[in-house]
Formats: sequence, structure tokens, C-alpha cells
Amino acid sequence: MALKLEKKRQTPAVTTYEGKAKILIPTDRPGVLRMQFKDDATAFNAQKKGQIRGKGEINCTISSYLFQYLQQQGIPTHFLAQVAPAEMEVTALEMFALEVVVRNRAAGSLCRETGLPLGMELEPPLVEFYYKNDALGDPLLTPDRLRLLQLATPDQVQALTRLAEQINTHLRRFFAECGLLLIDFKLEFGRDRAGQIVLADEISPDTCRLWLAGETDPTKRVVDKDRFRYDLGEVESAYRLVLERVLQQAPRS
Ligand code: ADP
Ligand code: UDP
Repeated sequence: MALKLEKKRQTPAVTTYEGKAKILIPTDRPGVLRMQFKDDATAFNAQKKGQIRGKGEINCTISSYLFQYLQQQGIPTHFLAQVAPAEMEVTALEMFALEVVVRNRAAGSLCRETGLPLGMELEPPLVEFYYKNDALGDPLLTPDRLRLLQLATPDQVQALTRLAEQINTHLRRFFAECGLLLIDFKLEFGRDRAGQIVLADEISPDTCRLWLAGETDPTKRVVDKDRFRYDLGEVESAYRLVLERVLQQAPRS
């Protein structure tokens, strides 16, 4: 039983790993990975596949700025440096097999599964845990299932929830200053060698839903991966708009 559960944990890459949106490459420095961002786009558990021109560079740059911003706010992140337009160096972590989703307004699977109207404000915001497991379709977890699968200890779940709430407060304010509404987003976390919980992966229009503030037209307001998911067109220009607004807001220190 212990062995079976051990296998479910994700360990830091010791060999190159190619995922759907990024490639992780070990470096000659122990504990440091190169993370290359691809233009490849997938949706609906990889049933829909395509490419968004320039996405790798855009998402890498947006993520780099947001990780630096969050670090300034006291959130530990895996970000070390952006070393090329579509490449950053990060701290290798032992990842939780979890996707932590924060929702400020109803959208996506929450609307599909509950019937709540699109855009309904959620106060307090929802923090939800999903099992990061492509073969199972990343199912929503209950606290009991989280415990059963031993994906995190109760203390870790509490710490992850608190971190997700804090990150939401910071990102919501940051995007509001960019004229963007942060509808929902997905976070991934891991543990470093000291056992500290650290924010990982990326924060970008691939992993956040963002709407133009003040725009009521339901197709015009979307500036995130929903443009790709639902064939709304103007995908690349939406990603570029987010990049430009983030860069204006966060001059590199
Ligand atoms: P996926 O694996 O879901 O196809 P990606 O293509 O985005 O996703 O690949 C990035 C992978 O790297 C993800 O599996 C993610 O959990 C993992 N990851 C992100 N940050 C780190 C890190 N700092 N250390 C180790 N693994 C990481
Ligand atoms: N999300 C993500 N990766 C996933 C699943 C979701 O980045 O594998 C993000 C998604 O972009 C959105 C939020 O998490 O910002 C909530 O997604 P939701 O559960 O509504 O799923 P979806 O409608 O995308 O299937």
C-alpha cells in the first residue's frame, strides 16, 4: 500500500520531462531546472489541440513578472530567473499531485456542474482541490478523498488553502490595476528540500480566466485560454494584451 501511494507523488525531474505546455530540463546545478514554455495549446483534457503563436514567450514573461511580484509580497515561488524569452530557471520541487483552483466568479466547470450563472460573484472566493491526473480527467476532490489518497496532509491542505487565498488577494489587486477581472485560476505547489511549500508551475492566460473590466459583451471581454477553448478567435492578440498590461503594471526591478 505504501509503495502504491509513493508512486502517485510527483518527484523533481532527474531527466527531461515534456508536458503539454512546457518542457522541464535538468541543469548541471543540483536542484535547478530549466522550464521551456511551448506554443502548444490543449484544452478539454487534451482532446482539443493546437498552437498559439508566441504563447511560449508571452506566458513565460507574464509568469516571470507575476512570480517576482508575488515574491515581493512574501509568497515563496520556484522562480529563479527568466533566462530566455520562453525559458525560466526554477527550483526543482517535489510536486503535490494537486491543482488548486481559486474562483472569484462562477465560470467553466463550476457553471457546468452546478448551474450557477456565468460571472456570478463568489464571496468569499472558492478554493478547490483537483487531483492532477490526466488519465482520470483531473477530478474534483472532496476533503475525504484528499485524505484517502494521501495527496497532502491536513496541515498541508490548510497551508495550501491559506497560500491560495493570499495569492488571490495579491493577483486580484494586481490585475484590477491592469483593468482586468481575475475570474478564476489554477495553482500548483511543491515542496523544496527544506520541506517548505512553494508556488510552482506558471501563472498565465493559460491558467487564469481574465475579463476586460467594464466590457459586457461576453465574447469581447475574454482575454484568456477560453478564446482557444471556444474558438472565439483573436487568441494571440488577447494573450498579447494581457502581456502588455502586466508589463505596464510591473516594471522589472
Ligand atoms: P502537464 O505535465 O500537465 O502536461 P506542463 O506541460 O505545464 O503540464 O508541464 C509542466 C510540469 O512541470 C507539470 O507537470 C508541473 O506539475 C511540473 N512542475 C512545475 N513546476 C515544477 C517545479 N518547480 N519542480 C518540478 N516540477 C514542476
Ligand atoms: N485550469 C488550468 N488547468 C487545468 C484545469 C483548469 O489551468 O488543468 C484553470 C482554468 O484555466 C481556469 C481555472 O483553472 O482558469 C478553473 O478551470 P475549470 O475548473 O473551470 O475548468 P475548465 O472549464 O477549464 O474545464
